[in-house]
Amino acid sequence: MSDPNCIFCKIAAGEIDSDIVHETDDIVAFTDLNPQAPMHTLIIPRRHIATINDLAESDSEVIGQLFLAAKAIAAREGYTDYRVVMNCNADAGQSVFHVHLHLLGGRQFGWPPG
Ligand code: AMP
Repeated sequence: MSDPNCIFCKIAAGEIDSDIVHETDDIVAFTDLNPQAPMHTLIIPRRHIATINDLAESDSEVIGQLFLAAKAIAAREGYTDYRVVMNCNADAGQSVFHVHLHLLGGRQFGWPPG
């Protein structure tokens, strides 16, 4: 449910300060500490899930909620064009092992990603 060594579990529990922009019983969204765009929000399930590879069928609803929150936050911030990214494991760029959706907006993005 919660990993005592996980920084995002601590943010979800309010044990570490963060700039929370949206929260429900199941998910929390907060500003990235090292923003890569004018809007860079991280959206996480409260429940600890390390990577996409650890998702179960029963997680499908909370994962859907991450995307619906991204849509709502982007709309609230006035962004119609934005990117959502979820890295899986180190070679893909994951550095915090608690699944999180990056919501980025406010600049032009390149493709393919680096
Ligand atoms: P990833 O590399 O996909 O695992 O993304 C992890 C993100 O978490 C990075 O963009 C970090 O800047 C961000 N991050 C790490 N620690 C914190 C924190 N305490 N508060 C907010 N964002 C954080």
